[in-house]
Amino acid sequence: MSIQVYIDGAYYPKEQAKVSVFDHGYLYGDGIFEGIRAYNGRVWKLDEHVRRLYEGAKATMLQLPVTPAEMTEAILETLRRNNLGEAYIRVVVSRGAGDLGLDPRKCPKPTVVIIADKINLYPQELYDKGLRVVTVATRRNSNEALNPRMKSLNYLNNIMAKIEANHLGYPEVLMLNNEGYVTEGTGDNIFLVRRGELLTTPATAGILEGITRNTILRLASDMGIANREALFNRHDVYTAEECFLTGTAAEAIAVVEVDGRVIGDGQPGAMTNRLIKAFRELTRVEGTPIWPAGASKTVAAGAEGGTDR
Ligand code: PMP
Repeated sequence: MSIQVYIDGAYYPKEQAKVSVFDHGYLYGDGIFEGIRAYNGRVWKLDEHVRRLYEGAKATMLQLPVTPAEMTEAILETLRRNNLGEAYIRVVVSRGAGDLGLDPRKCPKPTVVIIADKINLYPQELYDKGLRVVTVATRRNSNEALNPRMKSLNYLNNIMAKIEANHLGYPEVLMLNNEGYVTEGTGDNIFLVRRGELLTTPATAGILEGITRNTILRLASDMGIANREALFNRHDVYTAEECFLTGTAAEAIAVVEVDGRVIGDGQPGAMTNRLIKAFRELTRVEGTPIWPAGASKTVAAGAEGGTDR
């Protein structure tokens, strides 16, 4: 059966799930989105994702036609309709249909789309061995131009870096900000272990403040691992003991080489492995149940393919 896609309160089979070409999400990338994951019949950090979506709506002056509680229920219902207990969920809120000009006031009604599908993951081998990455010339958007804290539909900045990644033959790359500080990957946050301390980029340095990132910081504190937000540049990365990336789709994945410099001993580090293990354990037991107690359903994860979502 074809997947059922939510559009503005109704469900359509994938083939008939369509929005207007006059939607400013299509014409201008005017809108916001979320990437959410369900594990084992539960939605992971659903409230945090809904909150980030509504913060993006506030910053872009997008009046959502549904409340956060209604949005939460619509996400859960989309999973139920598709019988998915292990899933990747994409929520898209665009400015809606208007005229060909930029003015958002010409778009009376935002479009809300929810897609739930099987998840594509990096091949297991990359988790076992770690990623090799490079830094690229494309700089992360500055906060003052288009704040990366908004998960806006305009991802061309990240796509330009992804094109460099493809050209150079790497699955992921690191982006610097205009001051030369390392910000994040094209779809993941970055962590370092330096002198025994866990470091990650401050939310204000030009990153999406990842929900996985925040969970890792909390887990580290719970585990007694010294951690803090810090600005760091390429030298700090090259000379770190460990490095890893975090994101909803990738979870946490070790980085073992950056710009040809081997990180640590070239294997996923001990602290990285401890945090990944603790993170995975938590995802199996926490989260918002999709089905009422007793009716829980688990559907196998999708085929491996490689992702940057
Ligand atoms: N940075 C960017 C640019 C991203 O697209 C993502 C994925 N949503 C992340 C970081 C990781 O954020 P999260 O852990 O909330 O998925």
